Amino acid sequence: AEEDSFQSAEVPKELLGGLLSAEFDKKSCLSRYQSAFYRKELSRKPSSYLISRLRSYEALHQRCGPYTKSYNKTLQKLKSGNQPESSDCNYLVWISFSGLGNRILTLASAFLYALLTNRVLLVDPGVDMVDLFCEPFPEVSWFLPSDFPLKNQFDSFDQISPHCYGRLLKNNNTMNSNGSSRSFVYLHLVHDYDDHDKLFFCDEDQSFLQKVPWLIMKTDNYYIPSLFLIPSFEQELSNLFPNKDSVFHFLGRYLFHPTNPVWGLITRYYDAYLARADERIGIQIRVFDTGVGPFQYVLDQILACTLKENLLPKVDKEKAIIRQSGNQTSKAVILTSLSSGYFEKMRDVYWEYPTVTGEVIGIYQPSQERYQQTEKHTHNRKAWAEMYLLSLTDVLVTSSWSTFGYVAQSLGGLRPWILYKPENHTAPDPPCHRAMSMEPCFHAPPFYDCKAKRGIDTGVLVPHVRHCEDMSWGLKLV
Ligand code: GDP
Repeated sequence: AEEDSFQSAEVPKELLGGLLSAEFDKKSCLSRYQSAFYRKELSRKPSSYLISRLRSYEALHQRCGPYTKSYNKTLQKLKSGNQPESSDCNYLVWISFSGLGNRILTLASAFLYALLTNRVLLVDPGVDMVDLFCEPFPEVSWFLPSDFPLKNQFDSFDQISPHCYGRLLKNNNTMNSNGSSRSFVYLHLVHDYDDHDKLFFCDEDQSFLQKVPWLIMKTDNYYIPSLFLIPSFEQELSNLFPNKDSVFHFLGRYLFHPTNPVWGLITRYYDAYLARADERIGIQIRVFDTGVGPFQYVLDQILACTLKENLLPKVDKEKAIIRQSGNQTSKAVILTSLSSGYFEKMRDVYWEYPTVTGEVIGIYQPSQERYQQTEKHTHNRKAWAEMYLLSLTDVLVTSSWSTFGYVAQSLGGLRPWILYKPENHTAPDPPCHRAMSMEPCFHAPPFYDCKAKRGIDTGVLVPHVRHCEDMSWGLKLV
């Protein structure tokens, strides 16, 4: 009994300082418990306020989640199309949309928005969300039931849909014809959204949306930086995140636990190729240029960056240095890319020539999928496993503009070296530079002053929301 009381007084390491709830069955999601043994500690301590808000969110989710009494009741309002007398549960439905890196970032954004507005987050399972992620909340599922009435409209929701918030504003049509509020509104926060859709980021619009029980959201953007610029959220956000540079780090570690099959991909790879190295280096290559790679200028850029920043040693092309006896330090490089060319060339460099430092360099690439195949299960399992493996490294190099890299860096608590985007098929000089923070970049932020009703540079208003290193018009938290 004494031992029991001792153990319960301490939060076990795997619960990440209380970030994760203790109420789970271990076998159904091994990664939740085992990841702490593969990872370094959280790079920051979560605030006690964040922890308490997560526990109260979990309680709300249990009370209002799928098929609970409150859910069934609120669903009736959706079916009848009428505005509820006050609902005791309000919902945010996240539509599965875009590549996996994008989906992970938008789901974290949606969860934070739900937390700020006391909504219950329900996740459209799409084709493979269930296959990739464990349930993050105890007892009640976060997946939207398949009999949800609007489900077959998700694909067709866009800017011109009759329930799209931007369109309702444009047509001065936010109320029902009888003057009551709407039972649901579709929020279009996709990169092509227009000035009306962007009013989502204004206080006045937030107070309107507060009264709508069902919000349905489609987005491919990490829009959290702009939530920090909405005055009514300011205080709460600063209580939740006293350090603003680790928002996704906490939300991501709280929400995204690989399912057992994906965890198998991660741990087998890690144990075989990365575990025994003295240092692990991740290199994430995402080439947005058209044409068939691999491109020599990209390879040149990778080598120039790792050499200049002292991440990998130089090779000696003149002398065939024969290995001295004694302990040699080793570095394992995990390189991810759709193409295999960069990996093959780097591996050859470190095979054909000795390093000047005597370090042993191993280069590994888990998959070579050639092109994006978002609808295929094994493809996305591998993509998720690779983002996760990159997040387990000590040093990370990422490509500009890629949400795949953002997920890896923020989950891992790593401030990466970002490879600048090549222009005109030439390697930029300098080839890369260190990110200001581990946070992802919001690629399509609004530039609007809601009060003054005119354009404004939202990247210079507060010290913790800045323009991104890899996209000059993007916004990120620092
Ligand atoms: P982004 O386009 O780089 O922002 O990242 P996304 O993850 O949203 O979309 C890219 C998709 O392409 C991924 O989800 C994968 O399906 C695929 N992909 C891109 N790079 C890689 C890679 O290095 N490894 C694997 N396995 N898939 C990749």
